Amino acid sequence: MSRKYRVGILGATGTVGQRFVQLLEKHPQFEVSALAASDRSRGKPYEEACAWRLPGEMPESVRRLEVRPPEPPLDCDVVFSSLPGEMARETEEGFARAGYAVISNSSALRMDADVPLLIPEVNHEHLAQLDGQKASRSFERGMIVTNPNCSTIVLALALAPLHARFGVEAVVATTLQALSGAGYPGVASLDITDNVLPYIGGEEEKIESETLKILGRLDGARVEPAPFKVSAQVHRVNVTDGHMAAVRVKLARRASPEELREAFASFTSLPQELRLHTAPARPILVRDERDRPQPKLDRDAGGGMSVTVGRIMPDNVLDYRFVALGHNTVRGAAGAAILNAELLAATGRI
Ligand code: NAP
Repeated sequence: MSRKYRVGILGATGTVGQRFVQLLEKHPQFEVSALAASDRSRGKPYEEACAWRLPGEMPESVRRLEVRPPEPPLDCDVVFSSLPGEMARETEEGFARAGYAVISNSSALRMDADVPLLIPEVNHEHLAQLDGQKASRSFERGMIVTNPNCSTIVLALALAPLHARFGVEAVVATTLQALSGAGYPGVASLDITDNVLPYIGGEEEKIESETLKILGRLDGARVEPAPFKVSAQVHRVNVTDGHMAAVRVKLARRASPEELREAFASFTSLPQELRLHTAPARPILVRDERDRPQPKLDRDAGGGMSVTVGRIMPDNVLDYRFVALGHNTVRGAAGAAILNAELLAATGRI
């Protein structure tokens, strides 16, 4: 391991920000040197500004770091952003223009034509979009790379081996999404106790569009979206962590259930070849028990970085159905961004 990058976290006191802090605590390549959040937190030591809500103690190394405003200069080389979507565009562009590599969780820039929407196992070649980004945004050293929406990651990762082997022609996905996906304090307890909410603003549109960009084909520095339709319906459920998607899929070529199972279970890619620190040995784990995956039992698989697939069955309307589950703040957010940064480092882009 040649050098250690100093990283800043924007939105460091939030649900995803805390997950960044936790996952980076003993990271071999990245050390947290700067933290930023809102006016509410600025000027305070992190231990005072942040109500730590993850199991275990707040890492000693960040306790006394002063929370800064999310604007350059910040005392770091790389910026992880978990800012609210509304303010992310301007702030992240500002950091990239000032020369920082920005690895973002926010939705603001994901669908921009010159911004990679990256899942390293699925579309690492889309990093070529960065070549056009420098020119289109007049960045000198800076760059912006995004990771997908937390449900999109679970869906796109599960679809990737099917699309590669059999061709995907249509997808219908119904999600059951955890409370932590709404950040803190999130959904009011009286709204979600004994209840399911069949609405999460903007989420269905994100899943339907982002999935096609991720599974799209690189043409020069542009991505041609995958040529099929995705239909998504989303629900907030009374689960702490772990987003589930019940998926129906139409395939271009006939495949047996065994072939589908094998395509999921054998899927590995560049992050596994490169042995990236945060890459799970198996991006997709298949469970054959009839009542798996379940959030409580499967969300931490592969350190929270594996997607678990089960209930693989022929479908009466489309060709196959299955259920996929992933940890929304690990594979769906902070872990995803850290893996993106590890790929950037391993490929010499940062
Ligand atoms: P959150 O718990 O509400 O945290 C928001 C963070 O942003 C806090 O650190 C907050 O700081 C900071 N912030 C809010 N307004 C700000 C402002 N005006 N200026 C500077 N900082 C400000 O939200 P979250 O769940 O962590 O989500 C953060 C981002 O990640 C969102 O864009 C979200 O869509 C995305 N994301 C979330 C998930 C998930 O599972 N939760 C998954 C994927 C992507 P203070 O504490 O000082 O207010």
